[in-house]
Amino acid sequence: MSRSVLVTGGNRGIGLAIARAFAEAGDKVAITYRSGEPPQALTSIGVLAVRCDITDSEQVEQAYKQIEEAHGAVEVLVANAGITKDTLLMRMSEEDFSSVVDTNLTGTFRVVKRANRGMLRAKKGRVVLISSVVGLLGSAGQANYAASKAALVGFARSLARELGSRNITFNVVAPGFVDTDMTKVLTDEQRAGIVGQVPLGRYAQPEEIAAAVSFLASDDAAYITGAVIPVDGGLGMGH
Ligand code: NDP
Repeated sequence: MSRSVLVTGGNRGIGLAIARAFAEAGDKVAITYRSGEPPQALTSIGVLAVRCDITDSEQVEQAYKQIEEAHGAVEVLVANAGITKDTLLMRMSEEDFSSVVDTNLTGTFRVVKRANRGMLRAKKGRVVLISSVVGLLGSAGQANYAASKAALVGFARSLARELGSRNITFNVVAPGFVDTDMTKVLTDEQRAGIVGQVPLGRYAQPEEIAAAVSFLASDDAAYITGAVIPVDGGLGMGH
């Protein structure tokens, strides 16, 4: 079984690990990248890299057209692209807030809505949204990010109800702290503080997030929809 898979923000970090996992399992994988060059680690194994900024609907449309021509309609969508703009509320500008929401939430809306067209026609589809433990736990200095990530849960669960009868599943993966560029900006002291709160006592590797995503897209997960799967070393227990 070789499916048409799209991973947004697949040029580095968690998205790259997810794209690699699908490609190694034999799927036809496309990634979007916003800046820089397409990652050689993926293009060398046949992954299609399409430039796309998910804050721009026209770029999303063009990316889908390119992917559909090469691989057919997207059957598995992993909405992974996301940003942070951390600061305390009193210093948070409206732009700090709206740009994070425009990428993490509205950007996800844009790519999911466009994928839905082909999934409705095919009467099947798998959508996995990458949220965060922070969306449910909250985090001082991340009100914009946490709000955008919590919103993905309501978004996915509404669509799970709206489109369940069409055999399209919508699930959310909520990673804890993962070793990527996004967390490299933290100081050693901040990292030690976080690790101290994680029952498993370490950061996740991107491949550990990819494993949960691969499962949700597999036949074994056919009866799972509207779920929030934590991959957080126990950090968010109780949510
Ligand atoms: P990175 O910062 O390493 O990568 C983010 C990816 O998103 C990059 O590919 C980036 O593209 C892409 N991206 C950002 N904005 C846009 C945009 N407007 N249009 C298209 N692509 C965009 O992050 P991670 O790999 O760590 O995170 C991936 C996802 O996982 C994010 O949604 C993040 O919130 C979530 N997450 C991460 C955690 C962590 O600890 N790292 C924990 C919990 C959740 P470009 O390279 O061009 O900037």
